[in-house]
Amino acid sequence: MAMCSAFCPRIPHYSFLRAAPSVRSIPPSSWPFRASSSPARASSSFSSPAKEIPGRIGFLGLGIMGTPMAQNLIKAGCDVTVWNRTKSKCDSLISLGAQYKSSPEEVAATCDVTFAMLADPESAVDVACGKHGAANGMSPGKGYVDVSTVDGTTSKLISGHIKGTGALFLEAPVSGSKKPAEDGQLIFLTAGDKALYEMVAPFLDIMGKSKFYLGDVGNGAAMKLVVNMIMGSMMASFSEGLLLSEKVGLDPNVLVEVVSQGAISAPMYSVKGPSMVQSQYPPAFPLKHQQKDLRLALGLAESVSQSTPIAAATNELYKVAKSHGLSDQDFSAVIEALKAKQ
Ligand code: NAP
Repeated sequence: MAMCSAFCPRIPHYSFLRAAPSVRSIPPSSWPFRASSSPARASSSFSSPAKEIPGRIGFLGLGIMGTPMAQNLIKAGCDVTVWNRTKSKCDSLISLGAQYKSSPEEVAATCDVTFAMLADPESAVDVACGKHGAANGMSPGKGYVDVSTVDGTTSKLISGHIKGTGALFLEAPVSGSKKPAEDGQLIFLTAGDKALYEMVAPFLDIMGKSKFYLGDVGNGAAMKLVVNMIMGSMMASFSEGLLLSEKVGLDPNVLVEVVSQGAISAPMYSVKGPSMVQSQYPPAFPLKHQQKDLRLALGLAESVSQSTPIAAATNELYKVAKSHGLSDQDFSAVIEALKAKQ
């Protein structure tokens, strides 16, 4: 069994992938790993929280999402090596035991499987395929898992570069925001090499509560964009409702409560509503990323001639919010664009 952690000797890269299917086929109770002393999360569907996890894990991109995801891997006892464009964001993870490398290439060269959580298509391509990008450090027997939200075309481009080195590729964008990332409650929407999916399943189970394998590269990206297209429109509509309720003399806090008890209840409304009433938008999902996802979803719809008038109008509203300097606020700040119009 190809295992590597602080407790086990390093193994040649090729043996990691060769042995990987057996990680799934061997019942957790008979894994030849020492039980981890780290407190793995208790509230998820992770089937073997007390076991060590195989492999040397790289993590590229330590923003709002990447940091808690990498942190959960470290806390579960994984051997994690990190890189981030702004190096200072690595410090908290290094203090938890992560190793640091100064480029994506070095991380990929050092690790068996490398995760990437970047802002957008441009940064995802740059980190994977650019100068000193991860592809330069990839080789047969390694795996690259891109958990950023990008479009299918971008994902296929990255997949081509990675697989050109003989390594395996999986796209795995996530549904769930900052808190689910902290709690290990993300939903992974994966597509690509099935062997890599099976191999990294224990890591996905640490970071998330569920995972879907959707087939060919591009399907995970498409699923994520459809979900976020719906979410962006829901938030815009909710914003209109909050402002209208206030204008006609109702208490918007009561609206939040009424909505939370009815058929259109969604955790998003209960979580974001009270702070939106206070005009507070602490960033969990930055507005610039929501607008990026709407833009990419509209491109997806265009590619198959699907009419999406609500998403198109919603995208315009987020663009207005960006023009008001709200890019780095939470996406619930889209409500400010409606205030500014009046
Ligand atoms: P974030 O906090 O803005 O972090 C973005 C990360 O990308 C940072 O590590 C940033 O590095 C890096 N980056 C940006 N441009 C780069 C470049 N040109 N070269 C190298 N690195 C670059 O974003 P996030 O909220 O973690 O989201 C990350 C991804 O997950 C996005 O695709 C987003 O759509 C998606 N997502 C987010 C959420 C959420 O609720 N936040 C939920 C699901 C999916 P620096 O630190 O140096 O800036």
